[in-house]
Amino acid sequence: MLRNDQLDQWDRDNFFHPSTHLAQHARGESPSRVIKTASGVHIEDRDGNRLLDAFAGLYCVNVGYGRTEIADAIAAQAHELAYYHSYVGHGTEASITLSKMILDRAPSHMSKVYFGLGGSDANETNVKLVWYFNNILGRPQKKKIISRWRGYHGSGIVTGSLTGLELFHKKFDLPVEQVIHTTAPYYYRRENLDQTEAQFVDQCVADLEALIDREGADTIAAFIGEPMLGTGGIVPPPAGYWAAIQEVLQKHDILLIADEVVTGFGRLGTMFGSEHYGITPDIITIAKGLTSAYAPLSGSIVSDKVWAVLERGTDENGPIGHGWTYSAHPIGAAAGVANLQLLDDLNLISNAGEVGAYLNGALRDALADHPHVGEVRGEGMICAVEFVKDKDNRVFFDPADKIGAQISGKLLEQDKIIARAMPQGDILGFAPPFCLSRAEADQVVEGTLRAVKTVLG
Ligand code: PMP
Repeated sequence: MLRNDQLDQWDRDNFFHPSTHLAQHARGESPSRVIKTASGVHIEDRDGNRLLDAFAGLYCVNVGYGRTEIADAIAAQAHELAYYHSYVGHGTEASITLSKMILDRAPSHMSKVYFGLGGSDANETNVKLVWYFNNILGRPQKKKIISRWRGYHGSGIVTGSLTGLELFHKKFDLPVEQVIHTTAPYYYRRENLDQTEAQFVDQCVADLEALIDREGADTIAAFIGEPMLGTGGIVPPPAGYWAAIQEVLQKHDILLIADEVVTGFGRLGTMFGSEHYGITPDIITIAKGLTSAYAPLSGSIVSDKVWAVLERGTDENGPIGHGWTYSAHPIGAAAGVANLQLLDDLNLISNAGEVGAYLNGALRDALADHPHVGEVRGEGMICAVEFVKDKDNRVFFDPADKIGAQISGKLLEQDKIIARAMPQGDILGFAPPFCLSRAEADQVVEGTLRAVKTVLG
């Protein structure tokens, strides 16, 4: 086994970490965090520290850590057939079975699933599919994609553009010109504090209409949105938002992509977020919860309407020119089959709904009245606490004070609990594995209260 100092040195010298302050890390100013093992909702680092992971990795280890059923399925698949491609009609029992299991769980108007590796490449696929769709329909100018500020859809070139967070654009020459952004459905951060929630929804709709008018509906192919904003702040949509937005999209013949990378397979206590909010998407993006991150796998589920045009396209043009070497990788597919089975067998989605509601309520009880807590919000097994400097006038802290990061740091230091300081705003996010118990939820709430008091009094 390597000594800690050796591992730290190799880490600093060789490992280019994503989403990391590279210079500080290379200089050794930020610690190497080496995780060794995990079980249930706990991870353990190389020094034997046991941490309660209230963010399920990157809200992806939905069934919890250390599930031998999934590990065994992966091992069995690797022994039998570690790889074969899925081009020109090839497949494996695992990938075919998984496609059937996904469609059995998806809304009834969905038709087929295309497999990728992660959420970013799945959304990249989705953009290509809607462009292909409009080319086949003879409307080559209908190509722009509308996304929302604070949406998160990946960090590729198009998907990083779809992501409506400045950090992901800055110094990367993004967004690309085919991507345009509209208002985030984030009532707490509305510009006009006098607006009611219903008036704010009207504002979101008016802003969308104005954008469509300005650009021309004949230039806009699709609208992409997470059913509930995730990385942009963990924000459930205001009541009536999705119904009103869908009306506009239908009127202008704009496809709807529901990015369910976080919400898919149970995070909100329902199989899909679309179900939860009455969304009827043309394409659904899935990733994280599909395998609970035991292996990389994502998917684009396309509706009957989209599929019919894709079929027509290949009749007219030959095979579709889109594929990854690792599309429908057998190991990912085997992990997916075992994971979806486990969700059913252990009733984990209803646990996510029940314990999630408990966690949400307990956080609210403990924190909502704190003078620096602006809002406690959530749905199912995902929630957030937003901190403000002046609650009555909704004045936010100076971002340079990094209040959210300070609180998550204290929570880790004092109670060995991991919550995520969301990247934009002083927002502490929670999205534990679905197997969280009520006792563990209590621990999270007590630790959070302690951390908030330590930092903010
Ligand atoms: N869409 C959403 C809603 C996400 O939350 C994420 C990742 N957090 C992605 C897409 C991108 O997925 P990946 O990081 O696997 O590329």
